[in-house]
Amino acid sequence: MNWYQLGKAEVEKKLACDVQKGLADKEAEKRGMKFGPNVLSSEKQTSRWLIFLKQFQDFMVIVLLAATLISGLLGEYVDAIAIMVIVFVNGLIGYFQEQKAEKSLEKLKELAAPVATVLREGAWEQIPSKNLVPGDVVKLSSGDRIVADMRIIETKGLETEESALTGESLPVLKSDQAIRTVGLEAQDQTNMAFMGTLVTKGSGKAIVTSTGMDTVMGQIATLMSTAKKTATPLEYKLAELGKILIAVALGLTVLVVVLGIVQGHPVYNMFLAGVSLAVAAIPEGLPAIVTVALSLGVQRMIRKKAIVRKLSAVETLGCASVICSDKTGTLTENRMTVKELYLNDRQFSVTGDGYDLAGKFLDSSGRDVSSSPNLEAMLLYGSICNNAELQVKKGKHLVSGDPTDGALLIAARKAGIDYKAAEMYKTIREYPFDSDRKRMSVIVEGPEKERILIVKGAPDVLLPRCSFQLGERGKELLKEPQRVGQAIDQMASRALRTLAIAVKPLPEGQLGEASMLEKDLTFIGLYGMIDPPRKEVAGAVKECREAGIKTVMITGDHELTAKAIAEQIGILPSGGKVVSGKELNEMTEKQLATVIDDVYVFARVTPAHKLKIVNAFQDKGHIVAMTGDGVNDAPAIKASDIGISMGITGTDVTKEASSLVLMDDNFATIKSAIHEGRNIYENIRKFIRYLLASNVGEILVMLFAILLSMPLPLVPVQILWVNLVTDGLPAIALGLDQPEGDVMKKKPRNPREGIFSRGLGFKIISRGILIGIVTLIAFIISYQNNPDQLTYARTVAFATLVMAQLIHVFDCRSDHSVFARNPLQNVYLVFAVISSVALLAVVIYWQPLQPIFHTMELGLREWLLILGCAALPTALFGFTKK
Ligand code: ATP
Repeated sequence: MNWYQLGKAEVEKKLACDVQKGLADKEAEKRGMKFGPNVLSSEKQTSRWLIFLKQFQDFMVIVLLAATLISGLLGEYVDAIAIMVIVFVNGLIGYFQEQKAEKSLEKLKELAAPVATVLREGAWEQIPSKNLVPGDVVKLSSGDRIVADMRIIETKGLETEESALTGESLPVLKSDQAIRTVGLEAQDQTNMAFMGTLVTKGSGKAIVTSTGMDTVMGQIATLMSTAKKTATPLEYKLAELGKILIAVALGLTVLVVVLGIVQGHPVYNMFLAGVSLAVAAIPEGLPAIVTVALSLGVQRMIRKKAIVRKLSAVETLGCASVICSDKTGTLTENRMTVKELYLNDRQFSVTGDGYDLAGKFLDSSGRDVSSSPNLEAMLLYGSICNNAELQVKKGKHLVSGDPTDGALLIAARKAGIDYKAAEMYKTIREYPFDSDRKRMSVIVEGPEKERILIVKGAPDVLLPRCSFQLGERGKELLKEPQRVGQAIDQMASRALRTLAIAVKPLPEGQLGEASMLEKDLTFIGLYGMIDPPRKEVAGAVKECREAGIKTVMITGDHELTAKAIAEQIGILPSGGKVVSGKELNEMTEKQLATVIDDVYVFARVTPAHKLKIVNAFQDKGHIVAMTGDGVNDAPAIKASDIGISMGITGTDVTKEASSLVLMDDNFATIKSAIHEGRNIYENIRKFIRYLLASNVGEILVMLFAILLSMPLPLVPVQILWVNLVTDGLPAIALGLDQPEGDVMKKKPRNPREGIFSRGLGFKIISRGILIGIVTLIAFIISYQNNPDQLTYARTVAFATLVMAQLIHVFDCRSDHSVFARNPLQNVYLVFAVISSVALLAVVIYWQPLQPIFHTMELGLREWLLILGCAALPTALFGFTKK
């Protein structure tokens, strides 16, 4: 017998579970041990050894090691061992960096891993889907990715899309009834839901039948796609640039070697010096450091409640020029409270805040009107056509489910109507709410076996479907719908979200398409509910505006409601336009593009409109960030430059399509992520500037010396030491630098700008040349003072090069002047510089190391010369913006 052939009770029995209570935690744990985690076995992880060995696979490093080996064989043990140790330590550092980046990306994967809503010990909870076991009772809702194979035991219009499994992209309507036919293929087992498929509509419950590799998906091994790591645009650009830089560095190195040999330097010495120089000067590690910087930035973003799903988003964030944000839940709190009612042609106010169950119904003169005709019926129908539940946790009332539905339940409780009254009505059929229909309907059977269709939804959608109204004297013709229209506008302009409710008696057996049934309805009344803006949103919108980023509200809500809230939070400037879904329908994409720069609010739109909006903004050259939560938002999220989904209310489909997930659903988090994104990019520019200027300096000092027929100012170990110490720690510390005060005061970055734009190329070359020159000057002066002691002049040159770089690192922190920022602000950098100076002192003053690093003790006079020369590049250029 297959699962689909069994009745619900048989499934329950066979899997030893209870659909009312779910599994006990202990039992779930036992089954977890037996069946293993609910995951498809993926690729094996790369071994640590391989990652370590990878650090030495670079061509020049191999040449260096070979050259060192030869020098060892020729008897230069000290140099050979020193070089080996340095190369080894360098590899070790690379290994740890890669591990760290890898770990933070792993953590990210865990955070973004799918969850399932399961019934355990009688309570619904969200657990990581890898912990699901056979026998678990699971809730399915529209937009969920199904994470195991399951037998459906309850459905409310549940439809799934199974193309991942069957290739068929049309949704399949699911049922909860047993199918007796033998030998059905997966696509015909309509009472089963399969791992990897999607819920596109409706909701339901199911019992997990198999997990992990036992699922149908697990058996089709070929369908398992292993995610490949793709390079971000910046990593790609750097890899491309790296090739050019390698060619330039190699060319210059060869020039140094050839010229050196021509001038009579021993071939072997020149070769080793050349290879060391090439290893030091070739920025082969740049893309790796960028990955480290990006992944460290990603960790900082997690702390700010933004989960980056695609590393490239970190870069694109800094270019965002428009944020299209949903209203409900992102700009507002999604904490709905019914504040007003419109009933019997009159307006009532409702007292009591939030989830407080106490409240009164008052008329305009403050009189209690709780016993008004039709009030009870309206509130009762509102709690029947409803999917939320009121729960009590630690003595406090909470709403589980849609907050709009929750608000209706609370309003009903204020009139003493609780779930018992609603339970007298048996639901025969539900037509779920979605943002396209903007309404929800149920067909119920009342205590007297009467059938009623209850419809609630956006008033302007519902009103045209009403022919009657419920007045004080009972059902009558709806003669003046414009009076209701006025009430809607009045409520909406007070920033209230409006909802209408209507009913229709149905003859028994009349079921069918929702839109066929939802006409000739009897209008009962309107709810006006408040959803306060999030506190921090107004500030965030303002900051975005200062950063050259436009915030646009996109909402399914009424135009006037949207406008009122947009004004409250400062999205809509005077003269800014509000465009409705209806107007959007009448515009072509081109027409929309001509006006879109003046539009700040799109109201009463459906998810399909979002795609049109994204395209229009992109047509105008904008980089668009777009938020979304429902299934139908996924295409627009995918099409936008930065797709943003909601961590709490978002569906799996939108999360999978997005590149950024907001753990708190909050608009202000988008602003923080953009801030961080801009900062990361600037930090990457900072260390590229530092590293390349240092490399230019190192090559040039050698080249200049040879051109002037001087001895080599630096020996191979010294060059490698500089590469390890001076170019290592401070560069990483720059990657952790704080943002320069004005990152959110600048315009968004042009995504097409090159790495060396905004003067970076000039800064690198000018500082690099100067670092080379001052090092050479220090070398020449000391050499002329003491021509017999080459070690003395080399020690001075070595110290000057190191100090010049360590002073220059502070200049790299600012686009303005070196004094624009407090040098002590970045403690990592201060620590990195102090450690580098200390290590320099060790190799100069600690006698056992002197023969290894070809150094000797220096006095105060030399230090004055070193520091004077080293400060020059920064002193000359540090004050300028250039
Ligand atoms: P956004 O999240 O994009 O800002 P929204 O959540 O306000 O938009 P929708 O959820 O599409 O927009 O709601 C649009 C309208 O549908 C609401 O103004 C309301 O009138 C109606 N509506 C909302 N929720 C429900 C519901 N659960 N049942 C019936 N009607 C609803």
